[in-house]
Parts: sequence; C-alpha cells; structure tokens
Amino acid sequence: MNIDKMLREARAEEGDRIEVASKFGNVKGVLMPKTASTSDDVITLKLDNGYNVGIAVKEDTEVRLIEKKHTSSKPAHAKTEASGKPIVAILGTGGTIASFVDYRSGAVHPAVSPEDLAASVPQISELCNIRTKMLFSMLSEDMQPEHWRKIAHEAANELNSGARAVIIPHGTDTLGFTAAALSFMLKNLTGPVILVGAQRSSDRPSSDAEMNLLSAVKVAIESDIGEVVAVMHDSTSDDRCAIHRGCKVRKMHTSRRDAFQTINGEPIGYVETGKISMAGQYRKKADSGQVEVDDKMDDENISMILSYPGLGAEHIKDVVIDGTVLVGTGLGHVSNRILPAIKQVIARGAFVVMASQCVNGRVNMNVYSTGRDLLDLGVVSAQDMTPEAAYVKLMWVLGHTKDRKEVKRLMATNLVGELTE
Ligand code: GLU
Repeated sequence: MNIDKMLREARAEEGDRIEVASKFGNVKGVLMPKTASTSDDVITLKLDNGYNVGIAVKEDTEVRLIEKKHTSSKPAHAKTEASGKPIVAILGTGGTIASFVDYRSGAVHPAVSPEDLAASVPQISELCNIRTKMLFSMLSEDMQPEHWRKIAHEAANELNSGARAVIIPHGTDTLGFTAAALSFMLKNLTGPVILVGAQRSSDRPSSDAEMNLLSAVKVAIESDIGEVVAVMHDSTSDDRCAIHRGCKVRKMHTSRRDAFQTINGEPIGYVETGKISMAGQYRKKADSGQVEVDDKMDDENISMILSYPGLGAEHIKDVVIDGTVLVGTGLGHVSNRILPAIKQVIARGAFVVMASQCVNGRVNMNVYSTGRDLLDLGVVSAQDMTPEAAYVKLMWVLGHTKDRKEVKRLMATNLVGELTE
C-alpha cells in the first residue's frame, strides 16, 4: 500500500485534518510529518486529546481530507539559514527528548534525529540557525566515559567553529553524570553547553520536550553563560525552566516533569515564559581563545558503592581498585564492620571518598566517632558534592595525578563549581 499516493489522492498534506477509515473504525486527527523513524506503512495522527496515534495502513484503509491546515503555519522542515542569526549546534545523543514511539509495540525508542527534533519546534528556526549532528541514539543508562569524551570533543569543535552555543539532548537518567563530566572536561567555554532532556515523550499532551528545548535555545542565543548547564522544567506547569549548573544537577524524581534540582544550591537562572533571569553567580563565556578539552580520566578503576546494612568487607576489597566513592549514610558513615577493609584498600593505594545518600546537605565526618575513624583512615569528604559529581571528579583527578597529597587537595578544592568549600 503506497501511503504517499493515498495521501496525494486525498489531497492531504502534513498539518491537514484528516480522517482515516478502516474496518477497525474511523480516526480523526492532524496528519503528522513523517520522520526518519516512521515505518513506511504507518500514518501518524495527532488526536484532539493531544496524543499521537500510528495507524497501520491496509488494503481497506481510506483517507479523507476534513480541513486544510491554516496557511500561516510554517512547513515543519523549513530551514532558515538567514544571516545575522546566531548558530546553535544541536548534538543528538538520544533519550526521551529525541525519541519516537513505536506505534506497533507502544515502546519509546531513542531515535529521532536532531533535525527532526529541531523541526518539531518551528520557533527554533526563527530564532537561530541550527547545525545538527547525531552523535548517538541511545538510552542514557548505556552511556560510558568514552561517550562523555566524544560529546566533549564535538561540543568544543562546534564552539571553535562558530557556534554560539551547543545544545545536547540527552536521556534524563544519567544526564547529571554527563553534565558533571563535561563540566570537568571543557575549558575556556566561549558559549554555554546545555544539556536538555524530557521526562515525557513528545507524543504525549503533557510532554515537557518542546518547552525544555525552546528554553534551552533561549539560553543558547541570549545568555552569556560560559558553563555546562542543564535546562529542565522547574514546575509542574508549563511556565518555567531552571538553568542548573552541570556539576550540581540531579534527577530527583522518576517521572515528574520538574524532576531536576540543583543540589545544595540554587539554579543559576530561570527561563520564565520565554525570558531569562539569572539568579546566581556563574562563569561568563570567554571572549577569546579556543575551547579546550581535558579528557584525561581514570575511567576503568573507579567505583561507587552504596552503603547498606548488609554491605560486606569482601565487596569493598573486590570492587575498590584505584578509588571509590562510598555513598554513605547520614553525615557520611559506613558500618564499623567494613572499616578494616577500607583500611586495607587505602593501604594498597586506593582513594576513598565519602558522599552521602541523603544527597541534600554536607558530609561531616567530625561529628560521630565512625566519621572520625574514617577520617583517620584517610577517607576524603565529598563535602556538599552530589555523589555523581564526586564520582566523576575522582575519575578526572585520578586521570591527572596519583599523588596522594595532590589528589586529596584537588578533591577538597572547588574546581568548577561542584562544591562549596
Ligand atoms: N532511560 C532513558 C534515558 O535516560 C529514557 C529516559 C529519559 O530520557 O528520560 O535515556
């Protein structure tokens, strides 16, 4: 069944309101554009309730035009390469924000190209010239340090070749890790590097994808930020996005649209009904020079261990190689039972950093005897860093030096805004 021919004969085009009739019934809605990931035999309609539905076309399917689209609306794929507009690079990596719904299984896949993503929000091409590149199409739980490196180099290349800013659509699950890694790797930023995600895919009426992306574009073209940031919904309404520092941001809810928070601090700014307001201190973009990438990381031998009542000493001895972030309880504690194992791994040269599973608040190992014993063993406090920032920082620091004193000094020093000393 040739869908293009069927639509042509019905004089139906993208954006028109149509009715698709088959033996399963009649469905009315707005004809959605075909994307790189739409199957050849599926027509996608946006229903009146805001949901998208895919209809597999069979021999008996008929299409009827109900109403032509309003002519003022721009074609979805219109490209404006007008001069004078800033260039913004969009580097696709995957996740819900860049996903499509498989209308056969209902599953959400990370596959929409950055072009499709930009075209899905037509205002974007009115504001800037977009340069897109698909780096990966993956769920962020599969991201590895090698992916962070690739993103860092590509972002630097874009900024060094004329882009005003770089936007990185990313899965939300590990967005905080990537944001922290880029914060340590990218130096002398001449524009903002903005991670953006979505908790709900764009076929859903409650999707946050469009607003988050548009807010990221606002930050890209209007702000003077020279940091890695994450721009995400800040309330349950569609009115405000927060601009979070990349090395302080964390996903704090599985499904809410305002899941992202700046931990132990405030967002550096907001995008409210399309307007940017800066709220905190931030590094301004460099006026000159090239963006540099320092991607040296010890990315194979660093672990992260959650402390829990049954955590055994053997686990510590097996898992800890060059270093670990213990995500301890409360102010930064682990059971006394595993202190000898910690002593042993430190004696063989490993670095042990203590973060807290409370996430909010500062590690303080001076209060209780367990904490003081850990300090005596040489455990280093993550202070008010998120566990993920502490983990990524330990990788980065150990990629640069293994000198005990220097590692301790760097872990206790604020390098890119990750901790308040
Ligand atoms: N788990 C996936 C990821 O982090 C999808 C979730 C999302 O993008 O929000 O990539």
